[in-house]
Amino acid sequence: SCANTKKDQSPGRLIVLTGPSGVGKGTLMRSLLQRHPQLYYSVSVTTRSPRPGEINGKSYYFISRSKFEQLIAEGEFLEWAEFAGNYYGTPRETLLNQVQSGKLVVLEIELEGARQIRTSFPNALSIFILPPSFDELEKRIRGRAQDSEEAIARRLCRAQEELKAADEFDIKIVNDNFETALNEIEAALFK
Ligand code: 5GP
Repeated sequence: SCANTKKDQSPGRLIVLTGPSGVGKGTLMRSLLQRHPQLYYSVSVTTRSPRPGEINGKSYYFISRSKFEQLIAEGEFLEWAEFAGNYYGTPRETLLNQVQSGKLVVLEIELEGARQIRTSFPNALSIFILPPSFDELEKRIRGRAQDSEEAIARRLCRAQEELKAADEFDIKIVNDNFETALNEIEAALFK
């Protein structure tokens, strides 16, 4: 299930990991970062409330809606999107500096943002993570007890739409077996 496209191998590079909510891309990204400390992870800004265990400045920068809108107006985001009632965005400057200095920079973002990155950075490597099935995805989304029923419904609806976009991306990886999926991501990044 890997359709691969050859791209320029410039030293600094942007890697975009996307896929529907609940597909496990956050967990895959965390393992990837643990195994490859040379990767630079771009910490996003969001207006959603922190979940238990999330640390400001590490999981996300948690800010208010008015502050986020101010940052949009100031052009501080490389991309941003509204997702399940909250804003999410990638800070521009640090990321560009890291790419410039030759780092492999990894982003884990939803579909609209991933599309914006693909448009602005045609050389970015984009990876779409798929669930083994929609039923399985629904189970995973419902398993996140901390989200409200309304948030779950919104995420399910959005997930159904997002799955249709998989073919737009360079590489598709099914997250059925976690280790296998992780190995496939590593193969794409370090080949
Ligand atoms: P969560 O609230 O579950 O942490 O994230 C919800 C969705 O927002 C996930 O699909 C996640 O990948 C995405 N996301 C996180 N940060 C960003 C960002 O900076 N930009 C965009 N467009 N999406 C993001």
